[in-house]
Amino acid sequence: MKIFNTLSRSKEEFKPIEEGKVRMYVCGPTVYNYIHIGNARPMIIFDTVRRYFEYKGYEVKYVSNFTDVDDKIIKKAIEDGTDSKTVSERFIEECKKDMEGMNVRPATVHPKATEEIDGMIEMISTLIDKGLAYRAADGTVYYRTRSFKDYGKLSHKNLDDLRSGERELKVTGEDQKEDPLDFVLWKPKKEGEPYWESPWCEGRPGWHIECSVMSKKYLGDQIDIHAGGEDLIFPHHENEIAQSEGASGVTFSNYWMHNAFLNIDNRKMSKSLGNFFTVRDISERYDLQVLRFFMLSAHYRSPLNFSDELMESASNGLDRIRKCAENLAFLIENAKAGDKSGAGLSDAEQTLLADSAAFVTQFETAMEDDFNTADAISAVFELVKFINTNTSGANSAEYLNKLSEKLTTLTDILGIKLGGGEKEMLDSEIEDLIAQRNAARKEKNFARADEIRDELLSKGIVLEDTREGVRWKRA
Ligand code: AMP
Ligand code: ZN
Repeated sequence: MKIFNTLSRSKEEFKPIEEGKVRMYVCGPTVYNYIHIGNARPMIIFDTVRRYFEYKGYEVKYVSNFTDVDDKIIKKAIEDGTDSKTVSERFIEECKKDMEGMNVRPATVHPKATEEIDGMIEMISTLIDKGLAYRAADGTVYYRTRSFKDYGKLSHKNLDDLRSGERELKVTGEDQKEDPLDFVLWKPKKEGEPYWESPWCEGRPGWHIECSVMSKKYLGDQIDIHAGGEDLIFPHHENEIAQSEGASGVTFSNYWMHNAFLNIDNRKMSKSLGNFFTVRDISERYDLQVLRFFMLSAHYRSPLNFSDELMESASNGLDRIRKCAENLAFLIENAKAGDKSGAGLSDAEQTLLADSAAFVTQFETAMEDDFNTADAISAVFELVKFINTNTSGANSAEYLNKLSEKLTTLTDILGIKLGGGEKEMLDSEIEDLIAQRNAARKEKNFARADEIRDELLSKGIVLEDTREGVRWKRA
């Protein structure tokens, strides 16, 4: 399996640290708003990478953080007249709903920055002890960038070029730094902001330290893959390397993977430019499986421009696959009910099944070439064409089932659900409605409670009132 490694700027053969295991860390969102579809790109891409490794038999430990202390969160809390924790908790929940809608599986661990402060203080202390960091007079702790000899190895930047760029980037308080290249590990609190005790001052961490600390805590000093959007290469990931390798003395991550931007009108989609759609906006117009399919229709290192036209084409492509799966399901039911129910594979069917294996190989070859999902999707379409031409009411159930399994194996790796074209209710939506029904019953508003039960029933969700509370299942 080949992975393009940002460190070497080349495709390298993947070799795990520990046989059969993959330890990966993906930088997650800052939670001060609904996530936008640009943020969704790394989520979908690296979830697919994880699924492919699992398909190959690896045990994957996947860690992805939520940045829940940050200037933008504090600003949003002030605007809303609330506190940072309320803002971040709310948007973590909303983000999880969006992930579920996009069929992005929860990470093995989703650590939050505010719950890892002790680890950050420990790592910063180590860096100070090693002479790689220092406390300035106002209590700010800076990383002594020039003392880390490999600084720039990921972004392929030269320290002196950086130096000339930095001159234009003067920020307040910078005069306290020994060198303009030094970056913040810990900073003093400001009025009204959340803060923690530390050996240096009451304050809060800089942004970069959280990922170094969480990665070490949940995955160890050395990991296989560290990933995120390409805007994170510099300075975020470069600084993470300086922190982690500075503290541990060993290579932090063997492979660094970065996705290109999702653009709109050929400009990066971002909250600060204001040119973004949230996943929630999109979910009102499209099935989120279409969004996922659209994202995977391009290679992750190519920029992808968002447009309704491309979403329509993704929607049509997905429909073609779904129709094929529906047809197969129909033929299978008929074959089971008919006189061929017990029939084994005919010779002709055996030959066709052997032929169809070529599409699975084609799919794997594409995925193993740096996760080329665009080519992998072409292989799925070829399999669909093959199935459409080589199935009929005359086939055995076994043959049809085997083809159906092949198709779903591939679509499961892509994380595409084939069931139904219409929007399926999410678990979280169902649970929200159940909570509303419980509240209605508490207020003795039984009419509303019944209305909710009926609404759920119409969507195929059956409620069962038990002594332990309400249970639900899909009919
Ligand atoms: P942020 O909340 O800005 O820290 O971003 C969370 C993740 O989304 C990071 O991996 C970013 O690199 C990624 N990201 C943000 N905007 C885009 C975009 N327009 N296209 C692709 N990835 C993005
Ligand atoms: Zn990070």
